[in-house]
Amino acid sequence: MLKTALFPGSFDPFTLGHQDIVRRALPLFDELIIGVGENIDKSYLFSLEKRMAMIRNLYVQEPKISVQSYSGLTIDFAKEVGTDFLLRGIRNPSDFEFEKSIAQANRQMNPSLDTVFLLTTARYAYISSSIVRDVIRHGGNASVFLPENLILL
Ligand code: ADP
Repeated sequence: MLKTALFPGSFDPFTLGHQDIVRRALPLFDELIIGVGENIDKSYLFSLEKRMAMIRNLYVQEPKISVQSYSGLTIDFAKEVGTDFLLRGIRNPSDFEFEKSIAQANRQMNPSLDTVFLLTTARYAYISSSIVRDVIRHGGNASVFLPENLILL
């Protein structure tokens, strides 16, 4: 049976930290779905279409990776795509506490769902999409935080 994982997130935008998690998860799974979330209560710097297109461009040569959008509960989308594995990255204790509650709540709702955590590579631990958005909003050069081949749309 093919092992598929869902990597859910906002990816507003996709950073070197996200790329690192994806790169390291690839040997663990046969397929990786990057699930780009759209939450009506959140305001994004990049539209859903742009966030998805940027990631698709980046992985156009990688057949194991697909990019899909979703709204609503991540567990419902996981069921829709038929996976029992969520993938998340952990940078620091506050990520850990936050992710732990979400993973435990998700498992309570769907006991067959497990969340796989990868610790960030130390040199990317400080990178967050929110820092990147601040830099871009103020006209700075965010390319040092972004994958080399990422084209900002
Ligand atoms: P969300 O809004 O769901 O938190 P993000 O796009 O901010 O979406 O993050 C998606 C996932 O990527 C989360 O698991 C987050 O912890 C992880 N992540 C974000 N930045 C990094 C990083 N620099 N290193 C490792 N993981 C990261």
